[in-house]
Amino acid sequence: MITEHLDEHTRFERYPFRDSVNAMVDKALDLMDLPAGLPEHIKFNDTVLQVHFPVKLSDGKYHTFKGFRAVHSDHYAPVKGGIRYSEAVNRDEVEALSSLMTYKCALVNVPFGGSKGGLRIRPKDYSVEDLERITRAFAKILIERGYISPSENVPAPDMGTGPREMAWIADTYRNLRPNDINYFACVTGKPVGAGGIHGRHEATGRGIQYIIREFFRHAEDVKLARLSGDLDGKRVVVQGLGNVGYHAAKFVSEEDGAKVVCIIERHGALLNDNGLDIEAVKEWMVETGSIKGYPNATFTEDGLGALETPCDILIPAALESQITKENAHRIATKLIVEGANGPVTAEADDILEERGIIVLPDALCNAGGVTVSYFEWIKNIQHIRFGRMQRRLDEYRGSKIVEALETMTGKTMPANLKSELVQGADELSLVRSGLDDTMRGAYQDVSEAFHRKDKITNFRTAAMYSAIEKLVFTYQNMGV
Ligand code: GLU
Repeated sequence: MITEHLDEHTRFERYPFRDSVNAMVDKALDLMDLPAGLPEHIKFNDTVLQVHFPVKLSDGKYHTFKGFRAVHSDHYAPVKGGIRYSEAVNRDEVEALSSLMTYKCALVNVPFGGSKGGLRIRPKDYSVEDLERITRAFAKILIERGYISPSENVPAPDMGTGPREMAWIADTYRNLRPNDINYFACVTGKPVGAGGIHGRHEATGRGIQYIIREFFRHAEDVKLARLSGDLDGKRVVVQGLGNVGYHAAKFVSEEDGAKVVCIIERHGALLNDNGLDIEAVKEWMVETGSIKGYPNATFTEDGLGALETPCDILIPAALESQITKENAHRIATKLIVEGANGPVTAEADDILEERGIIVLPDALCNAGGVTVSYFEWIKNIQHIRFGRMQRRLDEYRGSKIVEALETMTGKTMPANLKSELVQGADELSLVRSGLDDTMRGAYQDVSEAFHRKDKITNFRTAAMYSAIEKLVFTYQNMGV
């Protein structure tokens, strides 16, 4: 039997994402003793902009597009969050996603409020030239209304967008605001060489790897998930081979010895019990347009059913509402690491908790993207690359240490040790180090909240609790 496949609109109608997020937030709010009225303020969006705009495309005709940008909380400025391009984009979804951005930023101590944008469009239906026209037109409206600016609202890539779109947005901003010296900081996730930062493109996947590594450093949590050891040899299932899923799968398999036994994509799933070669699968997908036909694996069209493949770690890194009350009781993993935003519904959460499956939530796991966006924004307003001032100094100091050790011992240091000691940190190493530190810290805060409060029975509520605690602390200090 093939599991019922729902198109994005039907899925959204059947599992209202915003209700699901609110139910998750309520669980944390119910455990907190907040002044009357504050829980409502925390939950609701500050503002939402909805626009319809015409663009004359290469066919000579005018086409009208619908877009949104929601600001959930501007307790810090700027507010931050991606812009997604998808035909399923709607106001409720954008609002819910913008609230997740607020919690996400709080969890990783990134001093930004939460925002999100979306354009209802299927990018595949347009040529690059037309996509550029559409992106620039949308950006112009958002800039003119204060929904894109280095100090107020800073978008980034999300589903359906990437560095290319961010470069168009930055250029549109620069054309409209030629006197703003910080123009590059109006958007993050730009290409390196056009105001971007090394390590941003891989950041969300890298952050997922760092979270899983940190999870395995917490023996109590590992035991709770009925796991042991570390990532080495663990069976992993990944849904989505887009930017997030691809990088997460690549890093845990190539660097930590995990076995990716199943990859689920739009057209179906690939299975191989000995582990899939992520690079090879990705190459196949880029060349042929699908994972179907990849030689070293079994293919099934039942992608949703493949989510139930027995494994140790399941990483849903595609769409919202993939694990629902319909399939939660059949999910055969020990740990779910949410790479996408909202892949598990609130109802499914309860079923998974009853079954003893640990869920590490989206706001924690996929916060690597916004963390490195924060680094990029700092780089842009500082107008200097990280490491530029100290890299050669570090190198000089390292070589002096090697020289001193060799002189004192009369021995030559092995070449590999020498090169590691002598190396000054470049931008990518600094970004990775900052990201690792941030993700570890966020995991520790969430795990600490989970163990500290008796009434907190899962990591999602712990994450929401920890994020809202930080949010309330900021509100109170500001006198809200
Ligand atoms: N779209 C990403 C997210 O959902 C990145 C946001 C950002 O970098 O601002 O977290």
